[in-house]
Amino acid sequence: MDGGIPLGRILGIRVFLHPTWFVVFFLVTVTLSSALGQDHADWPGSLRLLLAGATSILFFASIFLHELGHSLLALRHKVGVRSITLFIFGGVAVMEKEPPTPRSEFEIAIAGPVVSALLALGFTFLSGMLGESTPAGSMLGWLGWINLILAAFNLLPGFPLDGGRVLRAFLWARSGNFQRATRVAANVGTWIAYGFIGIGVMQVLSGNVTGGLWQAFIGWFLLSASGATARQVDIEASLAGLVARDVMNPDVPRVHAGISVGSFARDLVLRGRRWALVEEAGRTSGLITLSDVKRIAPEEWDSTPVGRVATPIEKVVTASPRQPLRDVLSAIGTRNVNQIPVVEDGHVLGAVTRDTLVQAIELRGGASR
Ligand SMILES: [Zn+2]
Repeated sequence: MDGGIPLGRILGIRVFLHPTWFVVFFLVTVTLSSALGQDHADWPGSLRLLLAGATSILFFASIFLHELGHSLLALRHKVGVRSITLFIFGGVAVMEKEPPTPRSEFEIAIAGPVVSALLALGFTFLSGMLGESTPAGSMLGWLGWINLILAAFNLLPGFPLDGGRVLRAFLWARSGNFQRATRVAANVGTWIAYGFIGIGVMQVLSGNVTGGLWQAFIGWFLLSASGATARQVDIEASLAGLVARDVMNPDVPRVHAGISVGSFARDLVLRGRRWALVEEAGRTSGLITLSDVKRIAPEEWDSTPVGRVATPIEKVVTASPRQPLRDVLSAIGTRNVNQIPVVEDGHVLGAVTRDTLVQAIELRGGASR
């Protein structure tokens, strides 16, 4: 979950609003406004709608602050944060890597619920000051309540919830085994997800269709996330002990920087390849992929040399022959590339691609478990 409408940057972290956010914004605003209508029929409809809209925005600001809490602690522990995205189920902060120690895992995970609990206290206090029966006071009261629910929900001890990370930190500290700790937290997460789906279905059967569907929907989301985590751990376990040299393909396609993009593209398609190293004056100067080609208008293909559109070699993500394959896998994921050249003393020895990784995982039986 990364991307959507860019809202800006804070502390170098890109902030996005995912299109699904509008669905929740609309639902929360409509629900709140009609709830206000029941309690305060004397308030004009436009005031109720305005209050409900402002409250929805403060609700999402609360979720953003929750994610910012995680991010601040991550940065303190030297874990880079790529982005924060607000979407239909709340927010997500995308980190560049896993926390280095159980203690950092615990602090990063607990920061979010702590922020939510503090917001709950703050909103409840303000609501009490203004009085629950005033328009602003009643909305602040609701914000206090929803932030308390957010803190409690996120502390449920299953992956991918914050509580699951707290559980993993605890198990990891006790056993020293990161992968086993992750698997247990992911399994608990799966049970919690089934619990949500079960309760949701029961609610639907007993007549609360909207609330029940929503709970089942959250359960389904948790189920897919905890399942993905469990699979990730299996894959990483299957790659343990392997280094880039073990799976790299030494047969690396190369083209000269001077040939045209057009003849490169035709040759590429003929050989069924999607990328090549670019050679100039006897050395490797860059890397060109099909996506580089697609950035050029087809009528300019034959007049543009490959060297002009290639990524310069200094900017290409590379690996050393002895680099653990697990790192290569995570680099392919976080940097969103399809191939990583394996380089030693300035020479390209081969390349690890998504395909060679998949083969290695299948050979070790990772994906079949
Ligand atoms: Zn959180």
